[in-house]
Amino acid sequence: MRHRPFFVRLIVVFAGLVAAIVAVCGGTIYLSGQRAVRAQQIADLGRLAPLVRQWLAEGQAGPDGVDAATRAKITDAGRLLDTRISVIAGDGRVVVDTLVPAATLDNHNDRPEVVAARRREVGSGVRPSLSLHEEAVYVAELVDPGRPDGLVVRVSYPQRSWSRYGVPVWQVLGAGVGAAVLAVAALWLALQRWWVGPTNALAAAAGRMAGGDWAARADPRGADELRAFSGRLNEVAAHAQRQVADLRRQQADLQALVDTLPDPVLRLDPGGAVALINRPAARLLNLSRGRALGRHVASVVNDDAVLRLVDQINADDGGPGGGRRGDEQPGGAGPAGGGTVTREVRLARDGQWLTYQAVAQRTADGGALLVLRDVTALTAAVQMKTDFVANASHELRTPIAAIKIAFETLRDVYADGAERADLAQADKCVQIIDGHLRRLEDMLRDLLDLSRVENPHLKPTVRRLRTADVMAGVRSSLGPLARQKLVELVLDEPGARTSAEVTPHEFLCDERLLGLVLKNLVENSVKFTPPGGAVSVELRLAEPTAVGAGLCGTSGGAAGEPAVRLTVRDTGAGIPPEHLDRVFERFYQVDPARSGSAGRGTGLGLAIVKHAVAALGGAIEIESTVGQGTAVTCTIPQVEPEVEDEERG
Ligand code: ADP
Repeated sequence: MRHRPFFVRLIVVFAGLVAAIVAVCGGTIYLSGQRAVRAQQIADLGRLAPLVRQWLAEGQAGPDGVDAATRAKITDAGRLLDTRISVIAGDGRVVVDTLVPAATLDNHNDRPEVVAARRREVGSGVRPSLSLHEEAVYVAELVDPGRPDGLVVRVSYPQRSWSRYGVPVWQVLGAGVGAAVLAVAALWLALQRWWVGPTNALAAAAGRMAGGDWAARADPRGADELRAFSGRLNEVAAHAQRQVADLRRQQADLQALVDTLPDPVLRLDPGGAVALINRPAARLLNLSRGRALGRHVASVVNDDAVLRLVDQINADDGGPGGGRRGDEQPGGAGPAGGGTVTREVRLARDGQWLTYQAVAQRTADGGALLVLRDVTALTAAVQMKTDFVANASHELRTPIAAIKIAFETLRDVYADGAERADLAQADKCVQIIDGHLRRLEDMLRDLLDLSRVENPHLKPTVRRLRTADVMAGVRSSLGPLARQKLVELVLDEPGARTSAEVTPHEFLCDERLLGLVLKNLVENSVKFTPPGGAVSVELRLAEPTAVGAGLCGTSGGAAGEPAVRLTVRDTGAGIPPEHLDRVFERFYQVDPARSGSAGRGTGLGLAIVKHAVAALGGAIEIESTVGQGTAVTCTIPQVEPEVEDEERG
């Protein structure tokens, strides 16, 4: 069915109603007017009839009961008054008629007004004339009320007389229709101006608001009700505009907040589209925020591990057979309950595997929240700790087992009394115990040194050191070892010069960390240099740019201050190139059996050096040629101390 606007339907109905009212009222007025006119005509005729009756009573009775003079009088009166006057004889014959020749008229005793007159009543009525064939008003009376069969006077107005004065029906109808059309047009205009136009404008404004344009306002016009409604609508729009602005601000705050989180965060709407993504997540998943927002997660994220997690939370959310699948999670902690799934996911990035602890949670609106915590470093640290404990236990077990065996042998040697003991055997046992106790001591000392330099909160206590004092310290602590191994120890003198570089008299450094570096490097060189060889210690000032270029560099030095370059060089066994990258790892030894007469090392020396140099903000380089020797160079920036580390004293 075709839809017609309410306005048109209203106007059509209104027009119909007006037409009906006009028709009914017009018809009623017209008919009652007609009735009143007829009644008036009957009354007029009723006054004329007695006059004619009198003329007849006073006149000479002719052959028809009416003499010629009376007949003429009646005829004149009829013409003058525009009235039909008839005289009907007792037998019904019409003896006088002012309008129709009497001879042509039939018997009139059957006419209702004549019948009534002969009953001594005043016969009157409105009926069609059988002779004239038109509507006529009649009044009839007996001329002599004592003779019902005598003459009857009948006066009448035929339609032709009154139609000249009456108002035509079409005029009444025309006036009615015209009034109705005017009323409908006035209503149309009023409605258009006060309701339809303003309502359409309101609807247009509401449509813009529904489309999200809360800045749109309805122009308050039209009827009072519509103006009030426009005002209310504008208030609602202003309120919504404020709320939308608040929401946008909150969303921006939320985005800024989640961007500051170090963990990647991803929020999906109930349909699985990305609703929020923070910067770390965009970086991790290799997405741009603009490209990801509003798109389904499966179409923007390429990592199966992440998509499986989303699938899992969807499946766990009561889908048929969607039970928790925590046991499927490799290394994961499993579902934590309350719509939360926790699992470990591994993502390959730049050729490396990163480990994330992922928590996926169902949100109140049926979406999902994913938070990924990078536990790669933690996992590596845990692994390192496990390896460290295994290595340390292994390294400690060997000397303890040797001490135990030597001790038991010693006990057996002295079992039969001191006087019968094999002293040579006892002496050997004591030497074994002594050697391994020393090794244990070295190991514990190195472990302690390592834990100290590894401490991330370690702050170097930098102060001005004299080169001569540093070298003297090396000589006093390591000179005996070198002499014992018949290795020459060559130490730098302040002011010594190699090309443009010169050995400074003083420099800034942490004495204790520098001591650890020198002790471990010189000890290694002496240890791996055969008798007759030489170990040299050089201290030079280098350009600051040289810092950080080394194998284990961390940072540069203060601008302008040249860095200190410390080189420990030997003419020893050297290190095969395939081991050079690993010698700084803890417990790493190229060949544990080849430590020479200075005794087996702990495998921690170079690890301590690496961490100590890193704590000083420096870098290490190692060069080695098998059979020719090794040179380890530490470039350490001279940094003015900011805060004194009082704890380290
Ligand atoms: P260790 O206590 O065994 O010396 P380090 O960590 O100090 O442990 O050194 C690791 C390994 O690197 C040593 O076992 C050794 O094989 C090799 N190395 C270190 N310094 C030298 C050197 N100057 N000459 C030859 N090899 C060396």
